[in-house]
Amino acid sequence: MGVTISRSILTGMKKASTAASPREACGLLLGAGDRIERFTECANVSDAPEIRFEIDPAALFAALRGERAGGATLLGYWHSHPSGDASPSRTDAAMAAPDGRLWVILGGEYVTCWRAGDGGLWDRFVEETLLVI
Ligand SMILES: [Zn+2]
Repeated sequence: MGVTISRSILTGMKKASTAASPREACGLLLGAGDRIERFTECANVSDAPEIRFEIDPAALFAALRGERAGGATLLGYWHSHPSGDASPSRTDAAMAAPDGRLWVILGGEYVTCWRAGDGGLWDRFVEETLLVI
């Protein structure tokens, strides 16, 4: 069990996070089942992008439309914490719907993966094992 991700996707998200700092980078995770096959970087349209993120709604709706049309599944979201702490913040918990989607968080060299639901950290995030393949 666990969620799989490729080394190249991780490297890509790390590069995007470094480039966005001191703002949070964010984007979507696409794939099938528990396999992250692709990531996109989206505009962080939050009014305070240094401490939280809000994915450009147009990009989100486009991904959901693609999924309905038979494309890749929107598995979840990723974002960075320029502070270097890779665990979900209380703000993240307040933003997250308990919809079973994945939350991948990058903080410095650390990467964590969570599933949004009921229970767990902040009563919202249950940690998943991220397998780099
Ligand atoms: Zn966060």
